[in-house]
Amino acid sequence: MVPALKCNFKLAIFVMLTLLLASNIFIKTNYAANTDMKKIFCLIQIGDIDNKILEYTQIELEKRFNVSVEIGRQLEEPAYAYHKHKKQYNSTKILKKIHKLKLTGYDRILGIVDVDLYVPERTFVFGGADVKKKVSVISLTRLRQEFYDLPEDSAQFKHRTIIEAVHELGHTYGLYHCKNNKCVMFLSNTIDDTDHKGAELCSNCERIMEEKKDIVK
Ligand SMILES: [Zn+2]
Ligand SMILES: [Zn+2]
Repeated sequence: MVPALKCNFKLAIFVMLTLLLASNIFIKTNYAANTDMKKIFCLIQIGDIDNKILEYTQIELEKRFNVSVEIGRQLEEPAYAYHKHKKQYNSTKILKKIHKLKLTGYDRILGIVDVDLYVPERTFVFGGADVKKKVSVISLTRLRQEFYDLPEDSAQFKHRTIIEAVHELGHTYGLYHCKNNKCVMFLSNTIDDTDHKGAELCSNCERIMEEKKDIVK
């Protein structure tokens, strides 16, 4: 009986040590996973948004910001933001509505609408952002060639969408408008400005972004 007890005791020690080691490895693995964990952006479609442009935006933003991008819930057409004389939608009201969803688990939120946006101080805007709340919105309406009575150009439409998305998300990192008209953070007053600037940050904005990425949550 005694040798068997000893054997069981040894076995128990062995099992305990194995468990300890395993738990240690487990904790370390989790830790490594946490440090490598990507930030998550959420895309919110407001009204009906074409799936192709939604998915294209998702993939492009994942690459450009090195984040995961999830497509979140769909909101109704923003009737609450409509101005009947202007026949446009107030982008600030839409930003507030998105924020009120109180979505958790996301670092940044980008709403996509297909209605013409304005803010009281400007006749129209391509999008808007609330820097503190990390919420942004872009409109697809003025990004199509057809809006300017020109033939459809889907490649250009997709590129413009990314430019405006990167611009508004750039604001949520605390970037201001840039004087460099080739920088994505340049303020577009016209669609030609958007086409001219492209979707890249200038070296100065890139440096600020890199600094803020670690500070801005
Ligand atoms: Zn801007
Ligand atoms: Zn810049």
